[in-house]
Amino acid sequence: MQEINKSLKLSNVCYDIRGPVLAEAKRLEEEGHRVLKLNIGNPSPFGFDAPEEIIQDVIRNLPQAQGYGDAKGLFAARKAVMQYYQQKPINNVNIDDILIGNGVSELIVMAMQALLNTHDEILIPAPDYPLWTAAVTLSSGKPVHYVCDEQQDWLPDLDDIRSKITPQTRGIVLINPNNPTGAVYSKAFLLEVIEIARQHQLIIFADEIYDKILYDDAVHHSVGALCDDVLVITFNGLSKAYRAAGFRSGWMVISGPKHHARGYLEGLDMLASMRLCPSMPSQYAIQTALGGYQSINDLILPGGRLLEQRDRACELINAIPGVSCVKPKGALYLFPRLDPKRYRIQDDEQMVLDLLTQEKVLLVQGTAFNWPYPDHFRIVTLPYVEDLTAAIEKFAHFLSRYEQ
Ligand code: PLP
Repeated sequence: MQEINKSLKLSNVCYDIRGPVLAEAKRLEEEGHRVLKLNIGNPSPFGFDAPEEIIQDVIRNLPQAQGYGDAKGLFAARKAVMQYYQQKPINNVNIDDILIGNGVSELIVMAMQALLNTHDEILIPAPDYPLWTAAVTLSSGKPVHYVCDEQQDWLPDLDDIRSKITPQTRGIVLINPNNPTGAVYSKAFLLEVIEIARQHQLIIFADEIYDKILYDDAVHHSVGALCDDVLVITFNGLSKAYRAAGFRSGWMVISGPKHHARGYLEGLDMLASMRLCPSMPSQYAIQTALGGYQSINDLILPGGRLLEQRDRACELINAIPGVSCVKPKGALYLFPRLDPKRYRIQDDEQMVLDLLTQEKVLLVQGTAFNWPYPDHFRIVTLPYVEDLTAAIEKFAHFLSRYEQ
């Protein structure tokens, strides 16, 4: 029989957060091992329940959710999103500027598929949330990575961004608060990026899915609220702040000079229609989520579980010789560095695989986030302090064998 291969358009598409190491973790679990999983930002398995009122809204509305709905999403859900952004305030956002999706993931892919032609370039942070790179590649575009500077609290390097702009550059992705680094960008920094986008007519793709997960004195600024004359597409959803990742519900909001982008917006509408409509039941959660009690604050303020876990994880990681971590100001992750003078790591995927088989702890290697060197890894700060402590202790023990 002739071999059946994946399509050529997938040959350079990578999404290693759920790659071969996760498959090995599943195999170990099937053999009966307990694996401490610090690999995926999925709040609910770690005891972070979605607000009861949004669950009840979905249950109550199930009978109305049987048929297909509007391709762009339920009117009431879009209206709630519109009002949320009007308060930011992102100016000039109408109901038609909002698209609901089956998670931000679907919308990222749609946003790239509708825009890119072969050779078009999108600037993406390194490290990144790798779906952005994968979506650009899948859409026959070219991901061009700009460097985020660990010495500057992981702030993107503006000179590097400027130096990578070519006539083919169509847009720039900002992930703020950032996955995996936890950086939160200041207003002054965002204004600089806006200026670059203005000069080079770039679209800003603002992934703000962690906008409510902030620590200490961090303040989140939506880039779309800081300019009216640059096309900004802002992404957000229910997966993180509302702990409802399995609902698969997200949205994108288009702001700025839309009259210059009619063709692109038509393309987005066409892709929205081709998937018929976003899943109906979970859309009934959006209005209550955005308008209801923001229980996420109880988790991030002093005494909150997320804050406590971030603090403890950071402290334990920084106590390991040769391991250092910039304290995240937002999101759900640490992205620590392994001093290459101390640890001989040539292949960081192999390292996390060795950690998994030897200690039954699952992390994700830094190169999975398009970080160019095998000297970082990502930890999710969602597990209870006891599990985080156990996992980090096992990691420290494992690392001692990698010392050169
Ligand atoms: N964007 C970022 C930065 C993320 O970290 C994630 C999920 O981890 C997503 C988008 C995808 O979110 P969703 O569950 O809405 O598809």
